[in-house]
Amino acid sequence: MRYFTSPYNFIHQENRKVKIYDTTLRDGEQTPGVKFTKEQKVEIARKLDEVGVHAIEAGFPVISPYDEDAVRAVSSERLNADILCLCRSKQKDIDAALRADVDGVIIFLAVSDLHLKYKLKMDLAMAISQASASVEYAKDHGLFVQLSAEDATRTSLNSLIALYTAAKERGADRLGIADTTGCIRPKGMAYLVQSIRKLFDLELSVHCHDDFGLAVANSLAAYEAGIDAISVSVNGIGERCGNAALEEVVMALYALYGVDLELRTELLCELSLMVSRFSGVPIPVNKAVVGANAFRHESGIHVAAVMKHPFTYEAYDPQLVGQERKLVFGRHSGTESVREKLAACGMQVTEEELAEIVKRLKTLPIGSELIDNGGLINFAKRVLAERARDG
Ligand code: MN
Repeated sequence: MRYFTSPYNFIHQENRKVKIYDTTLRDGEQTPGVKFTKEQKVEIARKLDEVGVHAIEAGFPVISPYDEDAVRAVSSERLNADILCLCRSKQKDIDAALRADVDGVIIFLAVSDLHLKYKLKMDLAMAISQASASVEYAKDHGLFVQLSAEDATRTSLNSLIALYTAAKERGADRLGIADTTGCIRPKGMAYLVQSIRKLFDLELSVHCHDDFGLAVANSLAAYEAGIDAISVSVNGIGERCGNAALEEVVMALYALYGVDLELRTELLCELSLMVSRFSGVPIPVNKAVVGANAFRHESGIHVAAVMKHPFTYEAYDPQLVGQERKLVFGRHSGTESVREKLAACGMQVTEEELAEIVKRLKTLPIGSELIDNGGLINFAKRVLAERARDG
């Protein structure tokens, strides 16, 4: 058994497959201060492809010749994953996408009152006609087309339906719902997806932001409501608070819903470290799935139990995501866990010696805890040697 989930998860038993499309190279690169080199983009794309994601949003080619060139470099890798890129509803953006030789485009346009009035300075009809023309132009040039409603979660259902209807008529392959400011709640997302779902027999996707820490929850709510594709980014990087984290969405689908997308999840940590290194955005130690503490235990009660059965304090096997279980010995350690660990390593000690070792462990300064078997054994030997010497 590789995971141990809650029996209450029976409430949603569906294990329908969905597509994962990764936007690390586009929204992730829009993280303030982050810029990937072309070579880094290619390297990340190869790793994403090795993991097995279905599509990679490689960039926003119209931004600069440099961005166009980087997207083209990713396309020219001929990976298994489809290569997508972002376009505004403008012909020149789609021309840049065509020059970058992508498989498909994500054309975005907001039709929320806020964006129409203050950003776009156009009315709904104008916006819809612009989006429709772009969809048609991209379809005429043989691209897969996703039409995404930016700020969809703050747009009236009527406006969304009008936009999606026009996009569908012009041949869009997929309709996107973007929670651009991360402000919807999971049940609201479920309602929105269901409302669109019952009117359109096209693929639907979501792109969620994490401004309230709900990007993954909202993505999963969209899944439960019938979404076909989920936009994610490695380590959740992206604009402001970022996007739904690839590793979290994939592992939640796998272990909480029983959806096996046949991805090589054991590469997730490697991928996460690569993106952190290239982006300069550190991985918080308590980050789900890929954080350094995700499978690290120090509390005496936890360590003793985990040595008996890891699922007592772990939801799934760390090897599933390329992590290792680490037992930490320090101030939080308990006698039982230290005794068991020493015994497991073949070191027999008397109760008195054990008490001395545990006492000394508790004096270790913060940051110098021992996190491997050898460290504890060496520490125990040193304590016993000093004890013998001091009589
Ligand atoms: Mn975004």
